[in-house]
Amino acid sequence: MNKQLKSLLELQKLNDEISERRKDIVALNASIKKQRDILDQERTDVEAIRAETVNIKMEQDKRELDLNTNETDIAKLLGQLNSAKTNEEYSALTRRIEEERRQDSGIEDEIIRLMERTDEIKAKADELKKDIDTREKELDVFEKEAQDQIAQYEAKIETLRRQCSEVESGIDEDSLAMYKRVFAKHDGDALAPADSVTLSCCGCNMHLTRETVNRVLGDDAIVFCKSCNRILYIPEYQR
Ligand SMILES: [Zn+2]
Repeated sequence: MNKQLKSLLELQKLNDEISERRKDIVALNASIKKQRDILDQERTDVEAIRAETVNIKMEQDKRELDLNTNETDIAKLLGQLNSAKTNEEYSALTRRIEEERRQDSGIEDEIIRLMERTDEIKAKADELKKDIDTREKELDVFEKEAQDQIAQYEAKIETLRRQCSEVESGIDEDSLAMYKRVFAKHDGDALAPADSVTLSCCGCNMHLTRETVNRVLGDDAIVFCKSCNRILYIPEYQR
């Protein structure tokens, strides 16, 4: 194989590996961010659940007030009962007192229900918070490991970059400049196999002339696909 082309393929392989390591870093950072976002959202949800107890407390205070009003009414009615002049008046007052007491009992039940609801909500919120705290600690551990892993990837990328520079120093200026242009245009995908059987570029799937393929097979020049500009090479299984 053409020596320049061989170096370009080598360079592409190194660049592919750099690209893979970069993707690994992005994926790790994205995974951490996603998990942090989920936990943040869950914390907000727990606070919203807890906030419900404020409304319940207001409701409860209102009921307590109703209870006090009723107590005052009952005391008043009991006073009137002592000075009732007729049986009818006495019975009517007794009925009203009974009615007020019946209401009181209902309100007391309601207050108990509201208190129980508050306890339930607090217990639920505490439980959720405990679970979030646990998972946050796990995430901290995961993040620390991920940061170590990222540092390793970055060190690997540095090594690969140095290897790239070495390989690049063996490539002639024009070919390297062309490679870099195509690399930028095709998002890091600068070379493509030329299928010498189907006469097509495996980078863009467009037709290649027999003459183009023969020049690639001829091994004496850097040949570009006329459609996508990728640098062509004959894949190993067709050599
Ligand atoms: Zn092409």
